[in-house]
Amino acid sequence: MQCVLLTAGRALLRPAWPAAAAGLRTSTAAGLRTSTAVGVRTSTAAGLRTSAAGLRTSSETSGQSLQLRPISKDRRNPVPVETSIAYLQSEAYRATYGDQPVWRSYRRNHKGHIPPRKTRRTCVRGGEVSTGNPCPVCRDEYLVLDYRNTALLKQFVSDFNGAVLDFSRTGLCQVKHRELLAAMHKAKEYGTISFDVPFRVYDYDEYRPK
Ligand SMILES: [Zn+2]
Repeated sequence: MQCVLLTAGRALLRPAWPAAAAGLRTSTAAGLRTSTAVGVRTSTAAGLRTSAAGLRTSSETSGQSLQLRPISKDRRNPVPVETSIAYLQSEAYRATYGDQPVWRSYRRNHKGHIPPRKTRRTCVRGGEVSTGNPCPVCRDEYLVLDYRNTALLKQFVSDFNGAVLDFSRTGLCQVKHRELLAAMHKAKEYGTISFDVPFRVYDYDEYRPK
């Protein structure tokens, strides 16, 4: 089951899938017609192609216009990290995800009511998205997991204990989850994200010879 998002006008909701995954609170929600027809999954990629003006959004921080590609399943030309960082601060991103983490509105597809223990191995095969319901990171090519992209990484950190959220919670495919772990590890090494080291009290008398 895939929702199709037919959008027109100002805020191009860049990724077809994120916005479609659940009723996102967007400013254009009223103007959006969503259909829940089955089997229209990829035809949206072509159908969503809007005018170049619609694709251009401005990022407030850099002051430059962020040129977004038309939505496609092609993943052979990865988006640079700098573009991804600018995208996370852009109006297009906010219109798509709002204040929610990128994985919040994602729902896994599975048979029956008990999900498989693991998420799928990968969403991208042969340089193309090979599934109708790619994971929250694969569905939006502008989300690049990198140690510099801290705005994205922080969305995958638990508020309670600072641990990286499990894929059963975020729905990331196994490949992207491993990328996330690596990026998070590197970010901590480079100091781009801060984290708390647990404070432990040791009784050294137990270790000293008596
Ligand atoms: Zn994926």
